[in-house]
Amino acid sequence: MSNCIFCKIAAGEIKSASVYEDEHVYAFKDINPQTPVHLLVIPKKHIASMNEMNAENSALVAKCLEAIPKIAKDLKLDGGYRVIANCGADAGQTVFHLHFHVLAGRPLGEKLV
Ligand code: AMP
Ligand code: ZN
Repeated sequence: MSNCIFCKIAAGEIKSASVYEDEHVYAFKDINPQTPVHLLVIPKKHIASMNEMNAENSALVAKCLEAIPKIAKDLKLDGGYRVIANCGADAGQTVFHLHFHVLAGRPLGEKLV
């Protein structure tokens, strides 16, 4: 997707603070952190949201999820973390390239779920 900011970040065309990268997955620091540690984990290939997940691309989405415990170990998120994927308007999704928020670094308090 030529006009997608996270495609550009994954391709290195827009700067980001990288925390993890492999063949299929890129993870970087959120520019507007909501917690002391706030990361975004994305597939390098464009998938607009969870709504576009299907049998053809689910293995790629799984790669993103598999990366999360590796990142958590590297960053010593020993107290735990929360993983969130906003999908669509009601969830407040603002960037339409699938991403998993990883929130950590303090007790996260009141739970939505
Ligand atoms: P969402 O609202 O779930 O779509 O989340 C989008 C997230 O992307 C927000 O938390 C933004 O702060 C973050 N974001 C937007 N642009 C950038 C960027 N250039 N670098 C890092 N994070 C970004
Ligand atoms: Zn994209």
